[in-house]
This record gives sequence, C-alpha cells and structure tokens, in this order.
Amino acid sequence: MKAAGNIISRLQKTEKVERFRLSLQLVGLAIFIYFGSQSTFYVVLLSVPVALLFGPVYCGWMCPRGMFQNIIGSMGKRVLGKRYNKLVPKRIHKPLLYFRYVVLLFLLTVMVLHELQVIDDIIMESVVTDGLIVVMVVSILLSFFVDRAACRYFCKEGAAASLTNLVKIRMIRRDPSICNSCGICDRVCPMWIDVSKKDVVRDTVCISCMKCVQKCPVDALKVE
Ligand code: SF4
Ligand code: SF4
Repeated sequence: MKAAGNIISRLQKTEKVERFRLSLQLVGLAIFIYFGSQSTFYVVLLSVPVALLFGPVYCGWMCPRGMFQNIIGSMGKRVLGKRYNKLVPKRIHKPLLYFRYVVLLFLLTVMVLHELQVIDDIIMESVVTDGLIVVMVVSILLSFFVDRAACRYFCKEGAAASLTNLVKIRMIRRDPSICNSCGICDRVCPMWIDVSKKDVVRDTVCISCMKCVQKCPVDALKVE
C-alpha cells in the first residue's frame, strides 16, 4: 500500500514538474515570436549565470524547440513503440554529437566573413537565415524517430550552451550506496547518457533537464 502511495505521489510530482516545464517552454516560445530568431541568443546569454551553476538549463526547460521535439517525440513513441530511438545506432551517435559544433563553427565563420564584407547580404541571408532554418526544421521533425534529435546533433545554441557543462558548479551525482542499478535514469535521458554508470554526470551533451533525477525511484541522484 505504502509503495503504491509512493508511486502515485511520484507520478503527481512528475506531472507537476512537466506542466511547469511546458509553461516555461511556452514563455520561451512567446519570447521567440516577439523578438524573432535573435531571441534565442539573447535568452541563452541571459541564462548564462544559471548555466554556470547548473549547466544549460535553458535547453532542458525553456527552449521552444525542445517543446516541439517533446511533442513530436511523444507522437513518435506512440506510433513506433519499441522501434523509437533506434534510427541512430550508439556507435554513430557518439561521433554525430560533434556535428552541432560544426554547425556553430560554420555559423561563426559566415558571420565573420560577412563582417569583413567577404560575403554579401544575399549570401548571408540565404546561408544563415534560410539554410539554418531548414536544418533546424528538418532536425525537429527527426525527433519523431530520435529523442531530441535537434538538440543532440544540430543545435548551434545548444552547442555553445553545452560548454557550461565543463565549468558548472553544481553537478548531478549518483550515490552508489543507494542506487539499485535499475537503469531508469538511462532510459529517460533524452540525450542518451549512461547516467547509471557514472558517479558524476559531466557530459557536455547533458541539457540539465533533470529527468534522470526526477525519475530515479530511490533518490540516488542529487544535484550537489
Ligand atoms: S534510476 Fe536511480 S536507482 Fe536506477 S540506475 Fe539510475 S541512479 Fe540507480
Ligand atoms: S543526464 Fe539527466 S539532466 Fe542530463 S540530459 Fe540526461 S536526463 Fe537530462
């Protein structure tokens, strides 16, 4: 009876957390609609103090693209069942994670060349605005097959924000004396991090969504 009560209260807690996440993502969407494509850079910049403490919280909690990926991803899970998240094998997943840094580097190079007037406004417009929008839309649609595909492999802002994982003060720590190796944290992690095999999560790919902490049945994961 007590165990059932614990499960129900955990589910209610999870629902509340997810509603809170959705509210923040809608605020992120409103900011994006109001300020246009430049808004993400400003929001990421404003969220730097939080990111220095806890990592790229904006990515896991406020980014509207994350919201769309969650919605499309839940449709994918329903339609594909066990085939969901199987499109990219793990051996390809790891090197592919670097692709978003390539996108970021490409964007920065184009911006510098534009500033130096090596490339004109028309090229800048078609490459940066149109090209990157197409990449982002396609990658968001890919989340029908792969959890957070855009965040994992394509997002330039995510690539920049991910670097805060290297310097953040508070980390997710697993207490091996409490952990029962159930593997739930690995299964819920949208970025495919093997949380259950780590004592401290330092991976740059972590988006600080806290789903692993939230879903651990024995509270073995803490942010310290
Ligand atoms: S969910 Fe918790 S108990 Fe299960 S493997 Fe992860 S840390 Fe250990
Ligand atoms: S390790 Fe935890 S906080 Fe980081 S992305 Fe995975 S589930 Fe989210």
